[in-house]
Amino acid sequence: MDTIQLEEENKEIIRKYRKLLRHAKPFLKDDDAKLIRKAFNLSMEAHEGMRRKSGEPYIFHPVAVAQICVEEIGLGTTSIVSALLHDVVEDTDYEVEDIQREFGKKVAQIIDGLTKISGVGSNADSGQAENFRKMLLTLSHDVRVILVKLADRLHNMRTLDSMPRHKQLKIASETIFLYAPLAHRLGLYAIKSEMEDLHLKYTHEEVYQSIIDNIQVTKEFRDRFIRRFTRPLQQDLSLHNFKFNIKGRVKSIHSIWEKMEKQDIPVEEVFDLFAIRIIVDVPLAQEKAVCWQVYSIVTDYYKPNPDRLRDWVSTPKANGYESLHTTVMSRTGKWVEVQIRTKRMDDIAEKGYAAHWKYKDSTTRKKSGLETWIAEVRELLENTESNAAEFVDEFKANLYQDEVFVFTPKGDLKTLQNGSTTLDFAFDIHTEVGLKCLGAKVNQKLVPLNYVLQNGDQIEILTSTKQKPSEDWLRFVVTSKARSGIKHGLKDETRKIAEDGKEIVLRKLKQLKIEHKTSTFTELTKFFGLTQVTDFLYRVGKGIIEPKEIKKFKDASIEKKLVPKHKNWTDAKQVSKLITKETGRADSILFIGEDLDLVDYKFASCCSPIPGDDVFGFVTIGEGIKIHRTTCPNSAELLSKHGHRVLKAKWESEKKESFEAGLEIIGTDRLGLINDVTRIISNEHKVNMKSITVDTDTGIFEGKIFLCIKDKAHLAQLATKLENVEGVVKVTRIKED
Ligand code: MN
Repeated sequence: MDTIQLEEENKEIIRKYRKLLRHAKPFLKDDDAKLIRKAFNLSMEAHEGMRRKSGEPYIFHPVAVAQICVEEIGLGTTSIVSALLHDVVEDTDYEVEDIQREFGKKVAQIIDGLTKISGVGSNADSGQAENFRKMLLTLSHDVRVILVKLADRLHNMRTLDSMPRHKQLKIASETIFLYAPLAHRLGLYAIKSEMEDLHLKYTHEEVYQSIIDNIQVTKEFRDRFIRRFTRPLQQDLSLHNFKFNIKGRVKSIHSIWEKMEKQDIPVEEVFDLFAIRIIVDVPLAQEKAVCWQVYSIVTDYYKPNPDRLRDWVSTPKANGYESLHTTVMSRTGKWVEVQIRTKRMDDIAEKGYAAHWKYKDSTTRKKSGLETWIAEVRELLENTESNAAEFVDEFKANLYQDEVFVFTPKGDLKTLQNGSTTLDFAFDIHTEVGLKCLGAKVNQKLVPLNYVLQNGDQIEILTSTKQKPSEDWLRFVVTSKARSGIKHGLKDETRKIAEDGKEIVLRKLKQLKIEHKTSTFTELTKFFGLTQVTDFLYRVGKGIIEPKEIKKFKDASIEKKLVPKHKNWTDAKQVSKLITKETGRADSILFIGEDLDLVDYKFASCCSPIPGDDVFGFVTIGEGIKIHRTTCPNSAELLSKHGHRVLKAKWESEKKESFEAGLEIIGTDRLGLINDVTRIISNEHKVNMKSITVDTDTGIFEGKIFLCIKDKAHLAQLATKLENVEGVVKVTRIKED
């Protein structure tokens, strides 16, 4: 490259930089200009000699990104500085610490966020989801990270031409997958549309071109039509002394393409290529009235389609969009969309988030939809434990949402995702309300948790302290707030139960005199065929694994030590002695499931005994003890020829008929509650109620019931049944002393 070219380039850089400053100027304060200059100089120096794929000096890119931030998003100094520096840490020797020293913490944080976004898994598909997630995580720090990232992405899309084909496709599809929806959700309509159009350009080149051509060819005709259509409106609006601006706007190429796809028609047959936009300049207080006044003027000339009225003035979209849309019949018999809005609304519609903040101070509105959404996203991000791919899916579902408008009992308006249910609404109020939600009164009528909300519903949530979240709930919520709330609630439940389980296990270990080492829980978990310690503790807490089964664990560890010796048994007496020694019983009967765990035993494959069968143990040579049924075809021979090797054996369940246990029942007192409780107990098989005492002070029911019951599993079953009795809140086992 020769000197003249280099000089030209340098001039071009300075020209671009000056343009940036010119656009930023109106809102620069104090030392802002100096700071921008400093950032520009640092970026120049850092990227010195670097070139983009197109051959341009690299510095073109950060300056262009900064330009988009100012001109198209309306961001201020911090973002301009961040945009100028956005690739410095990633691509040059500068570190975040250097940025912090020179430009302070805020800029350093934003740059750090931007660097992290591009740093992760940029080539692996699976990394992509994680990458997106990282990006969204930066939302919890500063929304400007996303805004600068969107500007960065937009410029990359604009300069995609010089990229190789596979990169074009990759970048374009990422853009349509996440960045355009994100821009949409942040209210950046212009950027969203351009991203979508550029995606089309690189993925459906021919269609893209044909649409452009068609727009070009029909321009003259369209302009004439728009002039005629707007003429009477212009006159009337002037007559009313409005400050206004009317324009005909061609819709985005992408949206035209969507129509073609949806209706399966060529571009020539898409008749509503454009919309008429009327922008009025009025003080905030008169906005609504004026918009409707304009609507009234428009419909004086053209008949509106009653099905196509969209009032986002009274109720803005969740992303902050405000506008009044109607579709009217023109004199030539064509439907024309007319959008009526104020200058402020138009600014917000075009520039979204940043413009929204610009107007914030001047409005008296409460928290806007956009702010609420960002707060929600933050909450979701902070609470989420789902994997990256799942998370991005959930987040994306949240981006493209239609809305349903409902009211609280006090008449406050809430905007929820379309398809939301009672439960979504409850979680929208507060996580605690969601977790305790029983149902709701909608327009005074009782509805269940899964009732799908309709526009205009007035909803009063009914809660109960008894209520607990369940897995089922996940099936009928649509908002991510509810989803993560339920998942969290379930996890809390599980944790509480696991804590109870831990208590039980520790007590049992103490009782069994098993030393509790750090590895004990892990070993126990493995012993019960599980992988997670909490899973094991949860099962104990839930009663799925009974404490007595822990003894098997002890026995198994003893068995491990004894097995080799036992393999050498030759006589039943040796085993009897061991049993007497270990259990202190002199009956020398082996109880399968208990004592026999001490020794190496197997069920004989010739007769496969099952619990309840009459059985005996047979001491084999080298293979420990085998359990046979007395009716086994081999039993006659074994019993007659090898009597000295035969051992008396019984199933453990035959050992004791039943044991005594107590249940404590707490609930809200109601007529017939005792009756219901006792009926359930007496209907239970093999349960005898020994005593019952009931206390019903202050509307609270407290009962103690002592029973004779077969085993603990049965007791747990019974407790669950009792818990389901209406009014019963809690059933707990009374601890044995
Ligand atoms: Mn960049």
